[in-house]
Amino acid sequence: MTNEKNKIINIISNYNKESQKMSKLLMGKLKKENFIVPDKYSNDAELNICIGGDGAFLRAVHRHNFPHIPFIGINTGHLGFFQEILPENIDQFIDKYINNDYIVEEILLVKADVCTKNNCFELFGVNEIVIKGIKSKVVHLEIFIDQNHLENFCGDGIIVSTPAGSTAYNFASGGSIVYPSLNILQITPLSPINSKAYRSLPNSAIVPGDSMITIKPEYRYENSILIIVDGIEYRYDDITEINFSVPEKTIYKLNFDKNMYWNNLKSKFL
Ligand code: NAP
Ligand code: MN
Repeated sequence: MTNEKNKIINIISNYNKESQKMSKLLMGKLKKENFIVPDKYSNDAELNICIGGDGAFLRAVHRHNFPHIPFIGINTGHLGFFQEILPENIDQFIDKYINNDYIVEEILLVKADVCTKNNCFELFGVNEIVIKGIKSKVVHLEIFIDQNHLENFCGDGIIVSTPAGSTAYNFASGGSIVYPSLNILQITPLSPINSKAYRSLPNSAIVPGDSMITIKPEYRYENSILIIVDGIEYRYDDITEINFSVPEKTIYKLNFDKNMYWNNLKSKFL
């Protein structure tokens, strides 16, 4: 899983002023403790410290291709749900890190295998993968769980959320908060239509992590589908089906305290 400790720590910061300031401060403190902070991202580092908000964390994970190096985040963003260290607590964080006073937690991802008439593509998400219609059109999707037909969905779209992403778009759309260690995927409808014409499940469904969720756009709509991975849009022509699963690939995060999740949740949502 993680590399042997070698005292190399990557600092990955976004460009805002406060993050840049924090980055300099942190670099000084780490160097004092004999850590090496390379100028360029090192694939051999023992830790990635991400400075910014959740967006900065998501971009860091994607940019560095879902590395095995564990992450910890310092929040200089708005919400910073993934970014659990507050700028005023960095000394305490460094102390705990040096004393190995933490556990390494696995963050489960979501994978979409997108098949078109000609090809298949893999997409990986930390928070979620969303299926929507282009040009704000209603989407018409057939949804299957392990090949069992569940529904013909009509509405704005469908979110397939990871546990870690459950507090993001999923939560804003009425989905449930799921503790990050649970191996599941959550399917949350976006404005499902329920009428004499169409019938769609009005609430989320949570499926076991070893199941496969298949979404087939009705054939008239195969060119009107937008796929949004952690906030980034993708478009493919002639989509025949999209299969969602929990991949073996995971990322890792440091956890300094087993109460961290609940304290973080309360302080950032209530
Ligand atoms: P953004 O527009 O800044 O994100 C929207 C908000 O979601 C931000 O406050 C962000 O925190 C927060 N967020 C991101 N991941 C989270 C998580 N796992 N738990 C709780 N809150 C989380 O765009 P972004 O920063 O690039 O983030 C992309 C994410 O935005 C997508 O993955 C999606 O989940 C979310 N999103 C939400 C809505 C909605 O709620 N209606 C709509 C579209 C997208 P920061 O302020 O720290 O960045
Ligand atoms: Mn953001």
